[in-house]
Amino acid sequence: MNYIEPAPIKDKENPLASMMSRFDKAAELLGINDEMYNILKIPRRQITVGLPVTMDNGKIKVFEGYRVIHSTILGPAKGGIRFDMGVNIDEVRALAAWMTWKCAVVDIPYGGAKGGIMCNPREMSAGEMERLMRAYTLSMLDVFGPDKDIPAPDMGTGPREMAWLMDEYSKANGMTVHAVVTGKPLVLGGSLGRTEATGRGVTVSALAAMEKMRINPYKATAAIQGFGNVGMYAAALLHERGVTVQAVSDISGGYFNEKGIDIEAAMQYRAANGGVLEGFKGADLISNEELLSLAVDVLVPAAKEDVITQENAREIRAKMIVEGANGPTSANADDIINDKGIMVIPDILANAGGVTVSYFEWVQNRIGYKWTLERINRRSDRIMKDAFDKVYATSQKYQVNMRLAAYIVAIDKVASTYQYRGGY
Ligand code: NAD
Repeated sequence: MNYIEPAPIKDKENPLASMMSRFDKAAELLGINDEMYNILKIPRRQITVGLPVTMDNGKIKVFEGYRVIHSTILGPAKGGIRFDMGVNIDEVRALAAWMTWKCAVVDIPYGGAKGGIMCNPREMSAGEMERLMRAYTLSMLDVFGPDKDIPAPDMGTGPREMAWLMDEYSKANGMTVHAVVTGKPLVLGGSLGRTEATGRGVTVSALAAMEKMRINPYKATAAIQGFGNVGMYAAALLHERGVTVQAVSDISGGYFNEKGIDIEAAMQYRAANGGVLEGFKGADLISNEELLSLAVDVLVPAAKEDVITQENAREIRAKMIVEGANGPTSANADDIINDKGIMVIPDILANAGGVTVSYFEWVQNRIGYKWTLERINRRSDRIMKDAFDKVYATSQKYQVNMRLAAYIVAIDKVASTYQYRGGY
């Protein structure tokens, strides 16, 4: 194809390279022409800023920050802000594109964006973080906006940082603008249900896949890697739906109990133990690698990217993989997993419950009203189930796996919207 080459990605197993190779396959299957291919591939806008911040020692340090708006075809751009030492413009570009596809798969009226600052939040004081976040917001005043680009938390940022962003943006505009950012604290216009939203969507996806594979949840087993925001709530909700969660894990290792982990006890232990499961009783210790190869019905990688690769894909014995994390399976592992007949519910579908409830937060902010948890859960469950059904039907129509089908749904939606509205 004749297109402008994106910035080079050095590592072939890199999650961003993985994402792009799948995009290419789906674009080819859909017969997207070169013009449309470039429109969808090249980000609309990329901003790099230098942010001088006075550190606690009185010295000024200049941080480099980015915001990439990949697409605004479906609506205002949406995407998190990452604070991490590994942040670079290529990564932010690919993550922004990922957001475009994710929003399109769940059919919410947003384009895709992502932001990032190269910094180490673990080494910074709250004051330094606040000054950095406010400086970043000021430099993005013409970029952010409830109808233009709506940021959210990502790695290294959370409700606290979003509150600072909202405040700085509001001050600059002379009025309170809740809807400029999502993932805010509940008292400041955050939404009920946001914390559990991603794990909940993972559960809806897993149950829908079990139905297709004729697996009875009450007889099913699961293993979940990562016991943080996504993994913990996925474990709790799968358990609530009758699934026996035989293993969970976090950075401290894996915990296996054939009869099922007591998830409530694990959650309480984690809360009292500084957020890790280290020392948790009631289970045998296993490694994270062993967890991935357990013979369970449902495997949920919900920790980090690139944990299932061509090195270990042959060892996977689960019947299905539900990707709670972003990019947990490298593209090089796709064919191996496929050949083994394992059903994969891809990240851009399985973990889209988070952005869906972020969308609800924005909607509530704009109408100035707070929805009940019951309403939020009901509506997000419906969106997740509808998205699953659409991707499943597409996989049948094109005779492709669920991952490729999700990209086909997303790319088709954005491309056909562009054809109606023309360029923006
Ligand atoms: P988190 O920080 O709350 O939890 C991460 C968990 O993974 C922790 O239990 C941590 O101990 C564990 N972990 C870290 N490194 C590990 C390793 N090497 N081996 C095993 N476990 C390890 O993060 P989160 O918000 O739950 O996000 C997890 C993944 O889900 C990320 O890929 C994130 O991008 C993705 N995701 C999160 C959301 C959300 O709403 N939080 C939405 C979409 C996607």
